[in-house]
Amino acid sequence: MMKKFLLITLMTTVFLTGGQTMAQALNAEQESIAEVAAYAARGNQEGLKKALIKGLDNKVPVNTFKEILVQSYAYCGFPRSLNALSTLMQVVNERGNKDELGKEPSAKPQGEALTYGTENQTKLVGNPVKGKLFDFAPAIDEYLKAHLFGDIFARDNVDWKTRELATIAMLAVREGVESQLDAHINIGKHNGLTDEEVTQIKTIADKTGNDSLLFGFGEENPYGKYFTGKSYLKPITTTNGVPMYNVTFEPGCRNNWHVHHKGGQILLVTQGRGYYQEWGKPAQELHPGDVVNIPPETKHWHGAAKDSWFTHIAVEVPAKDGSNEWLERVSDEEYNKLK
Ligand code: MN
Repeated sequence: MMKKFLLITLMTTVFLTGGQTMAQALNAEQESIAEVAAYAARGNQEGLKKALIKGLDNKVPVNTFKEILVQSYAYCGFPRSLNALSTLMQVVNERGNKDELGKEPSAKPQGEALTYGTENQTKLVGNPVKGKLFDFAPAIDEYLKAHLFGDIFARDNVDWKTRELATIAMLAVREGVESQLDAHINIGKHNGLTDEEVTQIKTIADKTGNDSLLFGFGEENPYGKYFTGKSYLKPITTTNGVPMYNVTFEPGCRNNWHVHHKGGQILLVTQGRGYYQEWGKPAQELHPGDVVNIPPETKHWHGAAKDSWFTHIAVEVPAKDGSNEWLERVSDEEYNKLK
């Protein structure tokens, strides 16, 4: 009896501290909307098609996707919005128009779009939106208020929380829009999204980058036993004496402490957010474009942040009799201290 209890306790502990267990805050429909929005923003029609099929199979109404993809033009431009809507139309036709359409929006509110759009924007954000930029270029303020928050946000067949969820996913995959992403995370939270949900939306959005990785995603890492969590390996070149691999880590995944004997290693970060740490030193946060020179005989680890997929190219510096020595795991205690 005692033995059985102990075993169950142990199993539960292992499950909860496994590294990849993440609270599932979003439901299947919300996950689909985040995935669809992110693929649309990337302009990846192949990924979008698969995500739409999965969503429609999960009974997300056609009109919900249609609304999100119309709204996407405000964040990604007309070309990506039009291409995404065209993919949706094609998918719905190929499925024999059998999917549930869902609700249409009710009639437009009475009055001027600028008036009710300004009210919507104030409600969404929690206070009136003003600023020097809008004094400098009043036309953009008017378009935001009358058109985006008036015409589009007045369409009530998708609620504001869902619209913000989609917006966060779209902005999360775009470069150079950090301040807009932060603003929409705040607006999303003001409209009912939790911190866990925001983290999950960003992770889903991040993941949509894996099928358009510059050097490919590859297969599950054959050296997986030296890693905590799942990683994927794509050999780039192995034949000319300078082996290079594309390594992709799922959120929370990292390799064990290890040493590259004789040759060392160079990491070229291409996607996501991660870490490199040398024994006895603080961990270094990594972003695309960062280069890490790992000298031979240096004990270290590398891997993803908790909430981000992460990809780097690993260049194995050639050396006579070079080898890798794999050591202890990076404990959850150590790893969880990182942001
Ligand atoms: Mn290494």
